[in-house]
Parts: sequence; C-alpha cells; structure tokens
Amino acid sequence: MRPFAFVSPRTLDEAVQAMAGAGGNARALAGGSDLVDQMRVGRRTPNLVVDIKNIPDMQRLEYIPGEGLYIGAGVSCTRTGEYAPVAEHYPSIKEVCGLIGSTQIQNRASIAGNVCNSAPSGDTIPPLLTYDAKCIVVGPNGRREVPIGEFFAGPGQNVMAADELLLELVVPPPPANSSGRYLRFIPREEMDIAVAGAASMIAVDPASKRCTRARIALASVAPTPVRALDAEAALEGQVLTADVVKAASDLTPNATSPISDVRGSVEYRKELCKVLTQRTLEHCLADLGM
Ligand SMILES: Cc1cc2nc3c(=O)[nH]c(=O)nc-3n(C[C@H](O)[C@H](O)[C@H](O)COP(=O)(O)OP(=O)(O)OC[C@H]3O[C@@H](n4cnc5c(N)ncnc54)[C@H](O)[C@@H]3O)c2cc1C
Repeated sequence: MRPFAFVSPRTLDEAVQAMAGAGGNARALAGGSDLVDQMRVGRRTPNLVVDIKNIPDMQRLEYIPGEGLYIGAGVSCTRTGEYAPVAEHYPSIKEVCGLIGSTQIQNRASIAGNVCNSAPSGDTIPPLLTYDAKCIVVGPNGRREVPIGEFFAGPGQNVMAADELLLELVVPPPPANSSGRYLRFIPREEMDIAVAGAASMIAVDPASKRCTRARIALASVAPTPVRALDAEAALEGQVLTADVVKAASDLTPNATSPISDVRGSVEYRKELCKVLTQRTLEHCLADLGM
C-alpha cells in the first residue's frame, strides 16, 4: 500500500478543512470495508485519509415523526439495522443492513460508505431509492442536498467533488399503509456481489385497495442502480392483483442495461429483475395483509 497521511478530526469543520487542504487527493474513511482493500490493490491512492467516525454530527441516527430518518455517514449497518424505527418504518433498509457481508463487516460498514462507493451492486442503494432518500453533502462551499436518484454518475462514480463529504442521508417518512422489501440473488449463500437486486415500496389505500405509490429500484443491472419507472407506472392507481403484480414485474427489464459477466448473462439478469421484483411486491402485499 502506498504511504499516506491519516487524520481523525473531532468536528465537521475540521474534516471539511482537511479534505479542502488535500488538493483533491483525500478520501474519507468510514468503516473502511471498501476503501482499505481498494488502497491495498492500488485502485485508490489518496495522499490523505480522513477518518469520519469520531465526528458527532456523522454519528446521528434519529427518526423524527413527520421529518423522517437521519442516518449519519459514520453510523454502522449494525446500529442502523438495530434501531427500532428502521424496522418499523423502513423494513427494506433493515433487511439490507443485515445482509451486507458478514456480522463483522456490518459492524464496521456504513450505509453512507456503500452509497459513496457507488457500485452498481451496492445493496443499500435500491431501498434508499424507493424511499426517495436525500444525500446531504458538505464541502468548502457549504452544504447541499442531492436526491439519491441524482447522486450516481457511473460505476464507482458520483456527483460529489473530490473535496466534499457525505454528512448524512435523510429518508422521508414512508407513505401511510406502505411496506418496502429488498431481495438479491447471489451465487453463494453470503459474502458475494449481487447478480441482480430489487427493492419495492408500495403504499395502498385501505378503502379502495388501490396502489397510491409504487417505487421499484434495481441493482447490478445498469451502470448505476436504477428506478424501474414503467413498472412503477403499471402499479400506481391499480388494485394489486397477482396479474397486475406479474405484468408490472415483467416491465422491469425496460429500465436496465446489464452486462454479461462471470456472474450472469444479460438475459439472466433481466429475468432475475422480473422474478425478484415480483417476490418483493408479494412480500410487501403480505406485510400489508393483502
Ligand atoms: C467481505 C466483504 C463483503 C461485502 N459484502 C457486501 C454486500 O453484501 N453488499 C454490498 O453492497 N457491499 C458489500 N461489501 C462492500 C462494503 O462493505 C460496503 O460497500 C460498505 O457499505 C462500505 O461501507 P464502509 O463504511 O466500510 O465504507 P468505506 O470503505 O469507509 O468507504 C467506501 C468509499 O466511500 C468513501 N466514503 C465513505 N464515507 C464517505 C463520506 N462520508 N463522504 C465521502 N466519501 C465517503 C470512501 O472514501 C470510499 O471511497 C463487502 C465488502 C467486504 C470486504
């Protein structure tokens, strides 16, 4: 590994100053489960590593009714998954916190690190897309808010400047009478990269039984995680019968542009999108007692 300087600031201002003073060649360190390996193999060669875990602003994990869920950039997947309001209001976020890597990885890794790593396969990203999360980014020019759907720019790339930091994710309150679920397919039981992943979030009006909001997001089937807009449109306003769910799921490949690689072919990935989406929708409906 190439030599680098390391700082562990205690305030957000110190962290922003450290990033700004590094000439565009600093990297933030959260859990390090991506970064350390990337530095070891020379994929990332920062001159400065800025540890963000000791910054109180980045350790915020709070649900405020009417405002939503605040997940600081330094909060581990374990802590997020064990926070009761996450299970109550955002079941798919709880699900992904429990499937990243292993228990040891979950104890270190953060959702923010998964988002900033910006892999097409990042498992936390589809659920965040279905809940319309926002990324709060800070840097020398102040603070800005980026909808998660506008955050990703390509495999391993996002819209943050080299001297910016992700401060926290803000997840709006879910709509009434809703549920969200995530499923991925991996060749092994665990510790593998998704061949495809699908998150669904649906809200249903209890009186009419019609779907009032549908969000479907997919991983590992395009250069960035993507929303399946055609499938969403096929659900909204409908009574979610088995036929409607199947027809909508069959539209998910429209949103994809997968590659064939060692994990699966283009055709296989498209088929997985249909199957995984249908199952997540069925799980959501079961959660809603339908
Ligand atoms: C054995 C193993 C299994 C894994 N399994 C999975 C899996 O099942 N699913 C999956 O999606 N991923 C998996 N991963 C990848 C990794 O664990 C996740 O992406 C994790 O969420 C990264 O979080 P982290 O806190 O460790 O990030 P870090 O490694 O600390 O950071 C990741 C990247 O984001 C940047 N960064 C981090 N925080 C900030 C910030 N606040 N502001 C700006 N940039 C920032 C870093 O500079 C780095 O480039 C696995 C990794 C390992 C080693």
